[in-house]
Amino acid sequence: MQDCLFCKIAAGQIPSDKVYEDEICYAFRDINPQAPTHILIIPKEHMANVVECAGRTDGLLGRLFQAAARIAQDQGLDEKGFRLVTNCGEYGAQSVHHFHIHLLGGRQLSGQMG
Ligand code: 5GP
Ligand code: ZN
Repeated sequence: MQDCLFCKIAAGQIPSDKVYEDEICYAFRDINPQAPTHILIIPKEHMANVVECAGRTDGLLGRLFQAAARIAQDQGLDEKGFRLVTNCGEYGAQSVHHFHIHLLGGRQLSGQMG
């Protein structure tokens, strides 16, 4: 395993507040929530960012977004709405370099994206 925080979380080597898990994906609550519900959806396999994930030919990126949408429904966020965000690289302000989708909901989010 690489020396990667989210690889260790997905492997259960670092504790996390797990919300969902299947064979390809792991989801857990963000340690510093920016909304009443703030969940991170990650691939179990290490990949740096959305560009690397999009390069896969097995539909992994789509499956991760399907999982994110299903978790939003399970959390009861779909009626009022929610936001899915993925930060990429320096200008995207990505701080953990293991691909993750943020699921944010439970309050009115800002219309500003940046
Ligand atoms: P990024 O800035 O890379 O898009 O998002 C990284 C996210 O990971 C941040 O929202 C941050 O709060 C979260 N995070 C960083 N370290 C940990 C941790 O050890 N546990 C959990 N649950 N979240 C973390
Ligand atoms: Zn990793």
